[in-house]
Order: sequence, then structure tokens, then C-alpha cells
Amino acid sequence: MRPLAEYEQLTNDELKARIAAVRAEAGDRLVVMAHYYAPDEIVETADVLGDSLALAKKAAESSAEAVLFCGVYFMLETADILLNRPEKIAERGGKRALVMAPDLTAGCPMADMITAEQAENWKRELSEVVDFSDFTPITYVNSSAATKAFCGANGGGVCTSANAEKIVRWAFERRPKLLFMPDSRLGRATALALGVAPEEIVVWKAGEPLGGLDVETVRAARVILWDGCCPIHQRFSVDAIRKIRAEEPNAQVWVHPESPFEVTDAADGYGSTTKLIDVVEKAAPGTTLAIGTEWKLVDRLRRRRPELKIVWPGDEPSICVDMSKSTLARAAWVLENWLAGEPVNVVETPPEIADAAFEALRVVL
Ligand code: SF4
Repeated sequence: MRPLAEYEQLTNDELKARIAAVRAEAGDRLVVMAHYYAPDEIVETADVLGDSLALAKKAAESSAEAVLFCGVYFMLETADILLNRPEKIAERGGKRALVMAPDLTAGCPMADMITAEQAENWKRELSEVVDFSDFTPITYVNSSAATKAFCGANGGGVCTSANAEKIVRWAFERRPKLLFMPDSRLGRATALALGVAPEEIVVWKAGEPLGGLDVETVRAARVILWDGCCPIHQRFSVDAIRKIRAEEPNAQVWVHPESPFEVTDAADGYGSTTKLIDVVEKAAPGTTLAIGTEWKLVDRLRRRRPELKIVWPGDEPSICVDMSKSTLARAAWVLENWLAGEPVNVVETPPEIADAAFEALRVVL
């Protein structure tokens, strides 16, 4: 195996040339995918750019033998699950497609806020005071394969920030109550948008007896949210929005639904990363927009549309350091080792987890 240190000595131009050489030799055996929050030089190198579920679906549609996925761990698990369904492996004559990460330590702090064991404990504690079969568990796609498997095994599903309303509506058609994990912000915004009364939505605090709630509150709740959040999207503030409105009265403020409750309430609109990109791309020249999502993406949008005024609804840049772990040096290292027949950083989900997680993912396919 070629050592990573060798690649860390090279310039960006040398690394880009090495990556291009691998791609020329591999042809359609290889796909390079990048999430919108990846660094610019990786975005420029990718064949496909998108949000997490769209990328996983595109990976599953491709006939490539290998995918270099420049994102965070849960995204690679999802791509692996979709790409390596038993029927797809059979079509490839028994061969798994490889899903490879530039850096296996690139995780998502929000996804890590709930484990499958915590989800099972949540079910057990709730079952002592309510009928658990009244609840459909829904997990945001930003969760581990094991958390998705918990939802799949309990008749639930997966949602994205783009389709959360549709999936929560589906959940309510099946059962009267909802568990939503791990992002309490997205869960609350979605439940409110569907007309659930604020007093019927409660937050379950992990580690506290009965989630820090009393029995009557739990019994009366229609929506119980896990107390998770994205630390990156917590950095937007109502004060910053007020300041923007004072200085730029015509500014339109758009934020990601992972933002704090009060920020989503104070904004003119909220939406998935894809929706926020669409808002910027469709804005008329001269428009002032405040866009609250990951800094690298907003900075790229600002450079792409210099005729707009794009301001920042926070006090400091909110950079997802895990998304920044996809570097050219690591991409070149993974790709050259793969081409040499010594793949590194391969993500492989155990079949029993993959099968139950697929049941939950089915809802959004
Ligand atoms: S921006 Fe937030 S939700 Fe997205 S990967 Fe980073 S920590 Fe996770």
C-alpha cells in the first residue's frame, strides 16, 4: 500500500494530475462524488455533486465498480447499502461495489448523537408508560446505518430535509404518534408545518429519567423529538437576523431547518441545502439574501453570483470540519491504491444492519 505521507508532500496541481490519470485509466469503473459542503478543490474534481441521499441514489444507479465518496460516514453507509443490495451483488456476479472514503474519521456529530442502543433504550423506557405501537419512528438521513435499522425494524422510515413533510405525513397516516431522531430542529419545524400544536411536541433528553418529562406529558405528546442537533447550523442567531433586517430592510433570510428553533421562526423561509442553492440561483440580480447553511457552500455561491448581495446570518463562519476532511491528497491516495488493487478506506455495512436500514430507506426511494 502506498503511504498517505507520500501524497501530502505534493502540490494541488500534482494531486489533480494524479487523480485525472486514475480517472482516465479507470473510465466508467469509477465515480467520484462530493457533497455540497466539500472543499472547492474536491467539488471541482467530482463527477457528481449533491446532497447525501441524492448522491447515494446516484451511486446505486451507476454501474461503477468503485465510488470515491467525499462526504461523511453516514453518507457512505447509505451509498453502500443501496449499491450493495443482494440483487445488485448478484448482477455483478457476486462482487461488491466499493464505497471508499478519503478519511474514515469524517463523521457527522449530529448522526453520532443517537446510537442504536440509545434508540432501543428510548423504546424500552417509553413502553413502560405508553403503547409503543402507536409511534412510527422516523430518522433523519443524517444518522448511522444502525439507527436507520432501528427505524426499519420498528415500522418506520428515513426522511431528508427536502422531503420531511411528506415522510412525516406518511408516518401519521400509519400511526397516531411520531418519534423523530436525531435532529430535534428539523422534527419540530416539520411537525409545526403539518399543524401539530406546539404543546403536543416534546423533546426527550437522553440520560434523564423518562427523558426529563413526566408521565402525563409523554402520554399527551403526539411528537417526541430526540434532543440532537447539528453543531454547525446552531451558529446562526436571531440577533444576527435582526441586525441584517436593520441594515438591509429588503433582505430575504433563508436558513437550513437544522438551525435553532427561534432562527427558523425568524427567517423568511427555510429549506434543504438543495432548496437554498435554488433560492440563490433563481434570485434576480441586485437581490440581498441572507443564507444560513454551511460556510464553504455559501462562500462558493457568493462567488458564483457576484451580482447578488449574500450576507451571513451569524457571527462567525460555520465550517463543517468533517466535510473538510476530504482533501486532494487523501483522494489521490485512495484512488491510486484502489487502481493498484489495494483498496483502502472501504466502508462495508454488516448485512443484518444493511437489510433493516434498507427497510427504512425504502420509504424515500
Ligand atoms: S453540517 Fe452538520 S449535519 Fe452536516 S455533516 Fe456537518 S455536523 Fe453533520
